[in-house]
Amino acid sequence: MISQAAIYRGDKTFTLEQKQVVAPGPGEVQIKVAYCGICGTDLHIYLGHMDKRVGFERTIGHEMSGTVSALGDGVSGFTIDQPIVVRPLDHCGDCPACRAGHEHICHNLKFIGIDTEGAFQEYWNVPVHTLHALPDGLDLSHAALIEPLAVACHDVDRGRVAKDEDVLVIGGGPIGLLVALVARHAGGNVIISEISENRLAYAAKLGFKTINPKTEDAADQANALTGGKGADVVFEVSGTQPGVDLMTAAASTRGRIVMVAIHASKPAIDMFQFFWRELELFGARVYRPEDYDRAMKLLSEGVVDCNSFITDIKPLADIQGAFEALTGNPSAIKSMIKISGETA
Ligand SMILES: [Zn+2]
Ligand SMILES: [Zn+2]
Repeated sequence: MISQAAIYRGDKTFTLEQKQVVAPGPGEVQIKVAYCGICGTDLHIYLGHMDKRVGFERTIGHEMSGTVSALGDGVSGFTIDQPIVVRPLDHCGDCPACRAGHEHICHNLKFIGIDTEGAFQEYWNVPVHTLHALPDGLDLSHAALIEPLAVACHDVDRGRVAKDEDVLVIGGGPIGLLVALVARHAGGNVIISEISENRLAYAAKLGFKTINPKTEDAADQANALTGGKGADVVFEVSGTQPGVDLMTAAASTRGRIVMVAIHASKPAIDMFQFFWRELELFGARVYRPEDYDRAMKLLSEGVVDCNSFITDIKPLADIQGAFEALTGNPSAIKSMIKISGETA
């Protein structure tokens, strides 16, 4: 059997290649991939920012959905054609983090689809421990949002958002919007700070209060929108210095700040505010299995309006065009690649 695979070759280039399908090894499951979303990390790879880590012969992709197509030796609990999603983390089981029960931040963590082969291909073998069975009736294109939604569930859990708390999300891209939706579901009054007019318009359409730091003083506005006290929980999702400045300026007394963004360089942080207001800072990285369970539940409940959130779906043959279209596209929220299955 032959499988189509997109391979990242460096220099903003994917090639489409035919590969012989490999049977799943012991403890592995072979997945027929249905959809795979394009993550911000995938864009970084495409732009060449992660060449040292990824190399030039990798199939990337991890925001996927699909069905089980073959079981390796020793695998039980799943059946052929069963719809699933993959939690793309492979841990060592033997480091201090794993031994303490924090496998998702294993010291030797392999991110499947970055450090190993990913889902922009028709047939994909993964360890069985990464699988989550999908509930009945979930559209597979919608299910490909579970991975980023699980990120948001983990972030909101780390921030301990409680009912009626004021929440500020700094950065209104796909992850910021999902954090806002999950925080609102947890009972928070959510404000989104974002500089793109298109994203602001979408955030407003979803019913969020918005701040545009380009046209107003964001800290003043955040304080005004929270009765002068600041946000009880702040999520830094922008990965920018102005975002880091805002997170301390807009946090309430004893406010919690959750660092979601990956900051490539060390930002300057106003430590005085941590002293002055007894702030707390939480790191949040990927997700635990229970965040996946929660994301599946929230998606089934309709917490995300998938039809407006997914702004386009292109076939695997157009993956190059899909990535090109995303660079500098101000209107896209989530772009998806349809890998296999009937055409909609
Ligand atoms: Zn992702
Ligand atoms: Zn480990």
